[in-house]
Amino acid sequence: MTTDDTGSRSHSIEDLIDPKLRPLIKTSESPSEKSHLIGNRCNMCGEYFFPKRVICPNCLKEEPLEEVLLSNKGKLYTYSVVKAAPLGFQSPYVMGYVDLPEGLRILSPIAEYENETLRIGMDMEVIVDKIREDDTGNPVYGYKFRPASL
Ligand SMILES: [Zn+2]
Repeated sequence: MTTDDTGSRSHSIEDLIDPKLRPLIKTSESPSEKSHLIGNRCNMCGEYFFPKRVICPNCLKEEPLEEVLLSNKGKLYTYSVVKAAPLGFQSPYVMGYVDLPEGLRILSPIAEYENETLRIGMDMEVIVDKIREDDTGNPVYGYKFRPASL
């Protein structure tokens, strides 16, 4: 919770993020900073994971995996328009796969696709934005990717 200039209490973006997604997202603390997804990396084989894993499936050693901030930019691998939205989601919306330089392919809602034609291979960046509404109509935030040129 933060207090704005008028003295009323307002929610920070962090408070609005789906509790299940909070461990996966580092929000930017100032407008000049970018948000990042948090993954992890195996120190034995170097592979990255998102969502985070407890044990590396390649090495199967019970070495703790290192937590890392993933690149906030990637390339659009493919996408699809969802017309039959689950409860709480507004349709249509776009889901896509974004390839990160770490070798990860992330399934994510795609934001701001109205403003620019989506093209396979285009640069995308992570943002934190509203993804749905909860049972009482309150916004629930999570990660999305949007065209990086915006
Ligand atoms: Zn490994």
